[in-house]
Amino acid sequence: MGASTQDSVASSPFRVVHTVCSHDCPDSCAVLVTVNAEGRAVKVQGDPSHPVTQGFLCGKVAKYLDRVYSPQRILHPLRRKPGVAKGPLVKGREMESFEPVSWDEALDAIATRLQQVADEHGPESILPYSYAGTIGVLGYGSMDRRFFHRLGASQLDRTICAEAGGQAWKLVYGRKLGTRNEDFPHAKLIIAWGGNIHGNNIHLWPFVEQARRNGARLIVIDPYRTRTATLADWHIAIRPGTDAALALGIMHIILRDGLEDRNYIDEMTHGFAELSERVRDYTPRRVAEWTGLTSDEIERLAHEYATTKPAVLRMNYGVQRSQNGGTAVRAIAMLPALTGSWRHLGGGAQLSMSGAFRWNSEAIERPDLMLASPLKRPARVVNMSRLGHALTELGSEPEEGPHVHALFVYNSNAAAVAPNQNAVRRGLERKDLFTVVHEQFLTDTTDFADYILPATTFLEHDDIQGAYGHYFVQRSHKAIEPLGESRSNVWLFAQLARRMGFTESCFDDTPEDIIRQALNPGENGHSRNPGMEHITPELLAEQGHIALHFEGLDGDTAGQPFLPFSHGDVPTPSGKIEFHSEALKAAGADPLPHFEAPIESRLGPDAHRFPLEFLPRKADNYMNSTFANLDGHRSMEAKTNHRLEIHSTDALARGIADGDAVRIWNDRGSLQLTALVSDRVAAGVVAGRLDWGKLSPGGQNVNVLTSERLTDIGAAATFYSTLVEVAKA
Ligand code: SF4
Repeated sequence: MGASTQDSVASSPFRVVHTVCSHDCPDSCAVLVTVNAEGRAVKVQGDPSHPVTQGFLCGKVAKYLDRVYSPQRILHPLRRKPGVAKGPLVKGREMESFEPVSWDEALDAIATRLQQVADEHGPESILPYSYAGTIGVLGYGSMDRRFFHRLGASQLDRTICAEAGGQAWKLVYGRKLGTRNEDFPHAKLIIAWGGNIHGNNIHLWPFVEQARRNGARLIVIDPYRTRTATLADWHIAIRPGTDAALALGIMHIILRDGLEDRNYIDEMTHGFAELSERVRDYTPRRVAEWTGLTSDEIERLAHEYATTKPAVLRMNYGVQRSQNGGTAVRAIAMLPALTGSWRHLGGGAQLSMSGAFRWNSEAIERPDLMLASPLKRPARVVNMSRLGHALTELGSEPEEGPHVHALFVYNSNAAAVAPNQNAVRRGLERKDLFTVVHEQFLTDTTDFADYILPATTFLEHDDIQGAYGHYFVQRSHKAIEPLGESRSNVWLFAQLARRMGFTESCFDDTPEDIIRQALNPGENGHSRNPGMEHITPELLAEQGHIALHFEGLDGDTAGQPFLPFSHGDVPTPSGKIEFHSEALKAAGADPLPHFEAPIESRLGPDAHRFPLEFLPRKADNYMNSTFANLDGHRSMEAKTNHRLEIHSTDALARGIADGDAVRIWNDRGSLQLTALVSDRVAAGVVAGRLDWGKLSPGGQNVNVLTSERLTDIGAAATFYSTLVEVAKA
């Protein structure tokens, strides 16, 4: 499927255009958009020729035209009216605080103000804030990165989602690769660990179902009974933040009972002796005390995993979002290396396959431009998971550099998704903070903006994309003209660069230029990527999606079975799969995995004041906070809108009945919700869903309760290590 094909009837006024869903989801679906003669998109559908998309879209994106053509879209630049204070606004009445402005006026004013801030406080006082509102290569990070590098703005450490798990995986395997979805049907056991396949990785589900028709069992390990857990053969409701203990307990049983694959371990791994010694202490009895499972359950799980072949693990990023989430991912990732299941077609594990895509990031992002900035050096790095701190405290110590005086938000609804929301909002309300937000809708974050700039959806701009749930490079063609005056990230930051007087030719690059650079790892002295050498912009434009090749690594996805980490060198310092990490040791950390209870857990020091473990979970029908403002999507989540799910034991102990108004609080904030007495959570655990503050009673969401504490590996957010108390309101 190329850029655009006419309908089979020659006289048909319809075009079908190959695009890619750019929402933050492992599936990266190939989406065919039908466009009529007036240039309006009239239909979206999954591409039937894409082996993972298989012709269908999830419930979120099947209705995508409701989003693209929503009357709520921002279609013109807006400026805060003079004298109007920043703060949460009532949904539907935001325009009382803003006035329309032309793009030229807005860009001139923004460029002037950024220059003033840079002159007065230094360029590092400008902070970009973006994440995966789009995961297209160009939209996620290209012209924006060039712009901020050249400006000398603070660098953003993008840790809010996947950094702990990603770094942990790489400590073991060196590269983020995993079992292909298409090979799951060969599995006889599938364990979804912290992954809600049916809710937010739906294109893996048909392969899981195929495996189950072939006799496979599905086990789900998750403290919340997700849709996937409901459909599983066995749901193991582990206590939040204790995954490392369970993984180490499984290792203990495997080694105690001689169920490991010694040939594989000898050939492929490093540090087995040290690991064997370490797991000796993780007896089923001790692990049961931490995890809330019974010793029998742990024994049964370990035996089923180690003796069923092939067995595959589908981990997702839920595991990493606790204080010791990096170690948890690292420990779980080691399991297939003990059983040798990487050698079995349909075995192995999957967390993310993003390491398979080796774009030429130096050419796309141009980090060298930091040396051309007024700083003449790389700018300081600010962790996005501590936005509240960055806006309220950073700069108090001289060595930290300047306070943040300008914030540029794009691809993110920071006021809704960042932890420690009260601190974030205090920062955003600062009169002296200049805030620009590039967005598709009026969100919690735009309420605090000085300028709001209208952004395109993936139907309205060109991009290319990899995936973290499959091995296809894809071309997303612009299917329709941008609605109103909405503009892409590439356009916006090129315009600003010109106004700031940046003369480097990279700011003249078109999307086509950047696509060519991204696919050309041979330029600028970068090593060629054997997986992507065959993919040219022309071929990609013609075919829409092309599978990676792995001849140089592990076989060929087009022919032989793809069995990553089954033989040969592994790209870690030792060249082996690492149970024992010299890198961690050198950094003063424990080189082996171990279990340590999160400070905010029932085993922590504050559990007597805040005895309930809180899961600020994600909706199946939203993408983090994206889609939450659309009525069709909200109605699919109606059962848990503004609800606090609480087990009957905990409800009874507090005199709470289903439907009661409840207050939920800790030292960081409090929230009013309605009780939903539910067995989806175990006793001692409560769950509330991420939503927009402005769509919630009291104007706040679950992140008033979450902390800015960081994970042990990767310095990522720890949403699922949150203690609270609950009472009838
Ligand atoms: S959100 Fe995920 S499953 Fe849904 S269309 Fe996009 S990539 Fe596919």
